[in-house]
Amino acid sequence: MSDRYDDKRIYPQAPSIPARDQQHARMWGFRDSAFVVREGTIALESDRYSSGGHLLPDFPPFVERAVGVPFDAGDRHEPVAPVIDPPLSSKSLVAALVAALGEEGVSQESDVRLRHGHGHHLEEIYQVLFEKLGRVPDVVVFPRDDEQVRAVLNAAAEAGALVVPYGGGTCVSMALSCAEESRAIVSLDMAEMNRIEWIDPVERTACIQGGAVGRVIEEQLREHGFMLGHEPDSIEFSTMGGWVATAASGMKKNRYGNIEDVVLDVTVVTRSGVSEQTRIAPRSSHGFSLARLAIGSEGMLGVITRAVVKLHRLPEVQRYGSLVFPSWDKGLAFMEEISSWQSAPASVRLVDNMQFLFGRALKPSTTPAIVSAIQKLVVEKIHGIDVEKMVACTLVYEGDDDEQRDLERRITRAAKKQGGFGAGGSAGKDGYNLTFGIAYIRDFLLQYWTLGDSFETSVPWGKVNDVIAAVKESITSTHRSHGLAGHAFITARVSQVYATGCCIYFYIGFHYKGVADPMAVFRDIEHHARLAILDAGGALSHHHGIGKVRAPYLERVKSSEALRWAKEAQRAIDPDGIFASGNQGILPRS
Ligand SMILES: Cc1cc2nc3c(=O)[nH]c(=O)nc-3n(C[C@H](O)[C@H](O)[C@H](O)COP(=O)(O)OP(=O)(O)OC[C@H]3O[C@@H](n4cnc5c(N)ncnc54)[C@H](O)[C@@H]3O)c2cc1C
Repeated sequence: MSDRYDDKRIYPQAPSIPARDQQHARMWGFRDSAFVVREGTIALESDRYSSGGHLLPDFPPFVERAVGVPFDAGDRHEPVAPVIDPPLSSKSLVAALVAALGEEGVSQESDVRLRHGHGHHLEEIYQVLFEKLGRVPDVVVFPRDDEQVRAVLNAAAEAGALVVPYGGGTCVSMALSCAEESRAIVSLDMAEMNRIEWIDPVERTACIQGGAVGRVIEEQLREHGFMLGHEPDSIEFSTMGGWVATAASGMKKNRYGNIEDVVLDVTVVTRSGVSEQTRIAPRSSHGFSLARLAIGSEGMLGVITRAVVKLHRLPEVQRYGSLVFPSWDKGLAFMEEISSWQSAPASVRLVDNMQFLFGRALKPSTTPAIVSAIQKLVVEKIHGIDVEKMVACTLVYEGDDDEQRDLERRITRAAKKQGGFGAGGSAGKDGYNLTFGIAYIRDFLLQYWTLGDSFETSVPWGKVNDVIAAVKESITSTHRSHGLAGHAFITARVSQVYATGCCIYFYIGFHYKGVADPMAVFRDIEHHARLAILDAGGALSHHHGIGKVRAPYLERVKSSEALRWAKEAQRAIDPDGIFASGNQGILPRS
């Protein structure tokens, strides 16, 4: 089968996913890619990412420096065999689902149920590897169209069951977790609704199904000369519906916008009907925006089965850049300046010194020591920069050649004002792409007694350093109060800029061998860090969302009336409470 065309639109064929793109059953990433211990050090086994296939001899010493305890490649915290409870006996529910979807559209296999019972929050992965999740879905369904979605919702409502829409399973808010649920649980996996339904090359729009996966969307659009440009770090696995439901943000949002800028409309299927606009225009003032209501709905309004999105022509050029600044404050001043420009590079990210060193520690053994020594010499002697204080910025330029050249010149001038200088396109490319490889590290180090995670916030420019200082102080003191070995690892980057402020993204970590309940300690550390962020003026979340993890703090960021509106809207749209899974603290009416 091939793509179809008529005089207006392109109808791409259903994507075929290569067998090698299978995911790990219990950890992050593709099955063919993993960090491993090899020859007494760490290696990344993968042909997908830079540094793949090479030994990373600087990585173990970096881990030791980061958490203050030597990395012992021979001392593994062995994962246990996965355990889940048998499904609740719900014969009539399963029979109704099979009647609607066929045997092939319904699964109660243990590994399928397990995978649908969690996202990628640290606590979930820890339980999957070493303990046991609470309740997981009793049955997983794979509808193929809106009609089948409706049939699932009806069957669930009849049985008094909970329905949890499932996209790529990448969320880090425990939005998919149903550990405390007492009803039968149906996970509604959108994997079979993964197509680009049409591309309109003249209007530059496309209609994309809720289960379409980011990397596949971009591959298919590229074949027709278009792109979406929404590029979260999880693009390899996260989906259109998941992005809308979590209010996602992409790395190239300066050029292509966040998800709220990308979508023109969304279709939401509920038990009572289908909500969508019947006329889609470049912008509309059609009263209440139901698409806006769906953004951040975290699976609680209905099932997002498709979205109409804006497209962009493939850029004439894509170039990377990198800059080095003598200190965090200088780098931050540069970020603040460019945030007010009408046009900025598609992506600009500033990493602190610790994260810069982290990136360097992931360089393969093939990088000759002499090269690193010369680079260090240039930085120190020619530019007079202290390598222990310097920070780095990666940039991605996309667009017309002339336009981007002007931008590159302007960036160089702005960097110079802050004592910064260019460090080359290849460093920029490595730095930008590093995030995809870094995503595998947490689950690897977890097996070597090193626990780590990330969290984020958004902050007005004037409060950035206050928030970072408050988080560092909080984590250091909570770490100390638990009497843990070594010290806490804390590093920050500015990952997105806005005229009024920026997103700060933190990685934290600590050594946990000998700790009786590492997750309780982690929760305590994260809780105090979260309070520190809120006290210092940061948002509860910039893009990870609320789910169950951040629900207890919602009262700190919204008035009681705003919370009541959210609850009442959810209950009006979903009166049976089949989607009320406890995300954002919303449970079924009792
Ligand atoms: C390594 C890593 C990197 C990440 N980087 C980013 C990033 O750069 N930017 C960012 O914004 N986030 C990021 N995230 C978080 C996560 O990828 C996003 O929240 C993403 O949007 C979730 O999409 P998903 O398809 O995986 O949804 P899921 O995890 O499957 O679901 C998330 C929530 O959305 C609901 N949902 C999913 N699909 C639908 C649907 N079709 N209809 C209704 N509800 C639905 C679910 O019920 C659940 O409540 C990252 C996560 C990881 C692990």
